[in-house]
Amino acid sequence: MPIPESRRLLLRAALFLEEQYQGPSAAASLSCESLPGRCQQLQRLERQWRRALVRRYAAAAAECQSRLGTEVRLLSRELATLATGLLRPDPPPASLNLRELWEELQSLNQEFENVELHWRERALAVTTERIVLEDVDLGPFEIRLDLNQLRGPAPYQIRALDPSPAASQSRVTHPHVQQEQLCEGDGKPVLARALQEGRLGEFCLLVRQILRTYNAGSAYVPLSEWTALPCSDCGTQTNDEDASECRRCGSRLCERCSQLCLGCSNSHCSDCGQRCPHCDDWFCEHCLNQCERCAAACCDDCLTEQRCPHCPDPVEEPDHVPCHPPTVETAAISPSPPETASPTSGAAVQPPRLGQAAVPA
Ligand SMILES: [Zn+2]
Ligand SMILES: [Zn+2]
Ligand SMILES: [Zn+2]
Ligand SMILES: [Zn+2]
Ligand SMILES: [Zn+2]
Repeated sequence: MPIPESRRLLLRAALFLEEQYQGPSAAASLSCESLPGRCQQLQRLERQWRRALVRRYAAAAAECQSRLGTEVRLLSRELATLATGLLRPDPPPASLNLRELWEELQSLNQEFENVELHWRERALAVTTERIVLEDVDLGPFEIRLDLNQLRGPAPYQIRALDPSPAASQSRVTHPHVQQEQLCEGDGKPVLARALQEGRLGEFCLLVRQILRTYNAGSAYVPLSEWTALPCSDCGTQTNDEDASECRRCGSRLCERCSQLCLGCSNSHCSDCGQRCPHCDDWFCEHCLNQCERCAAACCDDCLTEQRCPHCPDPVEEPDHVPCHPPTVETAAISPSPPETASPTSGAAVQPPRLGQAAVPA
């Protein structure tokens, strides 16, 4: 709902903000109350352990020692959490009063085309114009403030409303935004102060300014590689205009890795072809043939009657000597068919074939 439509809602938001800023800090919810109970438990376990040691109950002593160790570890974790919470510097309360907080919210309407209060989620969202950096149109962005978390570690997100992410990393929607988190860079302390003091209007303007600025040195993905994808052979990020596709498998190739087949003149990746071992020229698998004798991959020019230069000419080969099947005389040496076989059965008349052993009865 746009803010001007409901002054009541705006006032409610300002009141909520005042409560958030003036309310007790996160550290105030920490307590040392559970510590004495834990210490008593430790003392009890230690007494049991010592008794078991004196009485030489080895198994019981080991059990007590292990439980004591676990308790000590739990206590030390609890203490560490307390220490971290208490020693973290508490943000100072907002220096703005209710009227000023209300005016901050109101000012967003003049600066941003679209301002929305999502009251149920306690979220305030403003939308930027389309952000175009170095001719790359990244679309408009929503700066979404979590009013519950203004003093927490991640109080806002940057959402691409018409995303045009980096080709190689879909979660990078802006050179300085990854997974909806802005890389604040040098702006970090200024942004933190604006939020701590409740100057939400100024905060949103600062964020928009960062979104409108490009710093190649700190970009998650530089704009020069925005449409780039890795070469499948060497991994180099390659823009569309410099990339080619392997004709055979379709993989993306950089200029350096694209191999030109001398047979068909198409680009290929290194997996889809090789050099002919005889002339050393590069050919795709489709344009290579096999020597019929040694099976080596070879280009057509280097094959003579399907043979590579290393293999002798078919005419120099000795005459073909066919293998003869075993003669009846040879086969007759093998064991005779069982005498008990019926005279009408074929086995009794014919000699067994080569490799066929007759089983004596
Ligand atoms: Zn490459
Ligand atoms: Zn290929
Ligand atoms: Zn080819
Ligand atoms: Zn060749
Ligand atoms: Zn050969």
